Amino acid sequence: MVSDNVIHELEAIVGQENLLTTPEERWCYAYDATDLAQMPDAVVFPGSAAEICQIVKLANQYGFPVTPRGAGTGRSGGSVPIQGGVVLVLTRLNRILEISKEDLVAVVEPGVILGRLKAAVEAQGLYYPPDPSSADFCTIGGNVAECAGGAVAVQYGVTRDYVLGLTVVLPTGELIEAGTRTMKGVVGYDLTRLFLGSEGTLGVITRIILKLVSKPAARQTLAAAFADLTAAASAVSQILTSGLAPTALEFMDRATLECVRELLPFPLPAAAAALLLIAVDGQPHDVEERAGRMAQFCGHAGADPVIRARSLPEAEQLWQARKVISPALKKVRPLKVSEDVVVPIGAIPRLISALQEISRRRGLPIHSYGHAGDGNIHVNVLYDPKVAREREAVAATVQEILAVVRKLRGTLSGEHGIGLTKAPYLGMELSPAAIALQRRLKQAFDPNNIMNPGKIFPATGSGLD
Ligand SMILES: Cc1cc2nc3c(=O)[nH]c(=O)nc-3n(C[C@H](O)[C@H](O)[C@H](O)COP(=O)(O)OP(=O)(O)OC[C@H]3O[C@@H](n4cnc5c(N)ncnc54)[C@H](O)[C@@H]3O)c2cc1C
Repeated sequence: MVSDNVIHELEAIVGQENLLTTPEERWCYAYDATDLAQMPDAVVFPGSAAEICQIVKLANQYGFPVTPRGAGTGRSGGSVPIQGGVVLVLTRLNRILEISKEDLVAVVEPGVILGRLKAAVEAQGLYYPPDPSSADFCTIGGNVAECAGGAVAVQYGVTRDYVLGLTVVLPTGELIEAGTRTMKGVVGYDLTRLFLGSEGTLGVITRIILKLVSKPAARQTLAAAFADLTAAASAVSQILTSGLAPTALEFMDRATLECVRELLPFPLPAAAAALLLIAVDGQPHDVEERAGRMAQFCGHAGADPVIRARSLPEAEQLWQARKVISPALKKVRPLKVSEDVVVPIGAIPRLISALQEISRRRGLPIHSYGHAGDGNIHVNVLYDPKVAREREAVAATVQEILAVVRKLRGTLSGEHGIGLTKAPYLGMELSPAAIALQRRLKQAFDPNNIMNPGKIFPATGSGLD
């Protein structure tokens, strides 16, 4: 698909040192955090928006696909170059261009690692709240393209709530600016929001203007272990309806707990069936009182023990245990399908019971954990590809889980996006008319379908899949 001629032209744009063509090198950019992989024909590391414009124009001229890529931590196959072509890695665009205390704004390039941005902002007494568990290695560009969430979304919202403006190379090669550097702005259609969560299918983001907030003065972390899942769900509901405004309210089921038990800073009762991890931000005296009341709610709901982190390192140890759940699940089975469904918060107990029943009936381990505070539960169907019975049961199990979610009036994805993994299920949530409109939008942006083709929309052979 990418001829020698194209390779020479790419080399002329980015320089030989920023172009990979050997199979060994290209293979490193074939996959993301799913188990999917597809070898690209070439990998380029552009150093500027102008170079990206040239590469995209070349793609239109020669008809090869371009797949934008940040750190490749995506969980829906978004940066897997499923139709080959060129993987466009944004990691060289990694400057923090501005942090303005006066305007509460940061301007950054897409390849900045989120953890680095958060630290730089906090060093100035400010706060950029979105905090996906991958913060130490994902890029802010990938966050915008997926509209990443994370634990503190309960209080602060998701990436969408902090993006004021974007600079984007369109799939036709023009550079445009969308949005503003101000806190408000309603000039024309809200293209910024359209690019947010567009999974690299509508353009390449080259610059991002972010809203910042003040750094919270204090944070308290609590952990509450429950012998009964329903009791944990009841504590979640009481906390959320109490007006105490938790910052994070995370949940782990029994099977998940077993994978991270030894990483917790305190021993857990053998009977623990669920753990809630709670964070509370605010002024020190206020945080103290709210955390105390939340601990009481947990105690009344049957939690034992309820532990308040006594120090920052202890709190960090608790959150670290939460952050490593995903890789820790490999202890149970080598592969997993990770869904990140969202249900109305009142429906969480029904979802969890249904998952337990499906797991028993289908004979596959299903581990659930995640953001109970906003109903966004990470449901992991674990399997061993070498065991035929397990391998063959996965697809039907996932489909059944998604059907349960829709029945509970939930949504298929809260933060990981549709990409490749969920494309076949799009019709479970969107009507044919809504899908057709979205396809027309894609066509208007990308008439030659060169920008990350094969993502989001189920394959139809229509030329736009
Ligand atoms: C251990 C682990 C924990 C995670 N925890 C969370 C979590 O708590 N919350 C959460 O929301 N996600 C989480 N994720 C998923 C993932 O980290 C996020 O989706 C993240 O935003 C992806 O960023 P990335 O830089 O790795 O992007 P990539 O995986 O490289 O790309 C993701 C998508 O964005 C597109 N893209 C990337 N950069 C650009 C750009 N500059 N312009 C246009 N399109 C672009 C790609 O084409 C692709 O479609 C987790 C992943 C892992 C592995």
